[in-house]
Amino acid sequence: MKVTDHIGKAKGETLFSFEIIPPQKGKSIKELYDNIDPLMEFKPPFIDVTTSREEYIYLDKGGLLDKKLTRMRPGTVGICASIKHKYNVDAIPHVLCGGFTKEETEYMLVDCHYLGIDNVMALRGDAMKEERYFEPTIGGHAFATELVSQIADLNKGKYLHDVIETDNYSNFCIGVAGYPEKHMEAPSLQSDLRRLKEKVDAGAHYVVTQMFFDNNRFFEFVEKAREIGITVPIIPGIKPIAVKKHLQLLPQVFKIDLPEILVHEVEKCKTNSEVRQVGVEWAIKQSKELKEAGVPVLHYYSMGKSENIRSIAQAVF
Ligand code: FAD
Repeated sequence: MKVTDHIGKAKGETLFSFEIIPPQKGKSIKELYDNIDPLMEFKPPFIDVTTSREEYIYLDKGGLLDKKLTRMRPGTVGICASIKHKYNVDAIPHVLCGGFTKEETEYMLVDCHYLGIDNVMALRGDAMKEERYFEPTIGGHAFATELVSQIADLNKGKYLHDVIETDNYSNFCIGVAGYPEKHMEAPSLQSDLRRLKEKVDAGAHYVVTQMFFDNNRFFEFVEKAREIGITVPIIPGIKPIAVKKHLQLLPQVFKIDLPEILVHEVEKCKTNSEVRQVGVEWAIKQSKELKEAGVPVLHYYSMGKSENIRSIAQAVF
């Protein structure tokens, strides 16, 4: 079922959902299930599965380093299929521009259609670790808007190169990313919002936001989005702080601010288990206020660990 239909069916009640990361290749999928299992009692109507950019690894060939391009966490579509089968909930693959040609994207979407996957999240992807800026893959898309257009075309039966006539259309519900504190490359929040509007105009049906720690940022973002005519559901993304290092890492990687009170509380902690507790309490406070404000879904970034998400969900749902 589509995310927008889940939201409609909930009739104003806030839903619980979360995002998982595929295991590194060579690892068992059991660890993933062990982290999903404790969250199923909160009845997520859908679970997102991320896609990782490819990366360079260096193999020691007798003193010479051999540079190889690889994807360390493959399997997004396969994991979606297994989640659908095992838990009977919708699973949403993240589809990236970076690292994929348009043809490869089409093949992935055809697989998703065969598997009965109703939703996809369309993203540009970040720059690869070794790149300073995002470089579009040759034969791929440069911005998420173009990817949304490709998926929207497929929903009309329009394949690449127009060589196929079909009445077997996909009907994907398309999610896109939004940034309450603006995307790191955007010159201003307003211009980033205009880009978001372009994604919606190209066919996106809902928005999931980057993590934020100050709900006012989210409320202002939604207000500004509505002012420029973005009417689709906007789902807040929540990440609980789990280790002291997050104080530096999260602002550095995601270009987001942390509220001074939260920074202070984390700095006072002597162990990471105390930090985790502060992170959980902060996320509970954020979630309760967002739920009170009537957000359609609370979407949690689990980063492969369910213990803290479970504590939050117990307090909120
Ligand atoms: P876009 O919407 O293409 O925007 C990227 C930048 O380009 C923005 O600054 C925008 O303002 C600007 N822009 C857009 N269109 C134009 C244009 N026509 N001309 C000039 N500038 C333009 N990354 C992963 O690798 N895997 C994942 O699974 C993943 N999941 C995510 C899930 C969520 C909910 C979020 C919020 C992010 C996720 N990301 C993921 C990270 C995401 O890929 C990065 O934030 C990426 O840098 C931007 O992706 P986007 O889809 O927002 O890009």
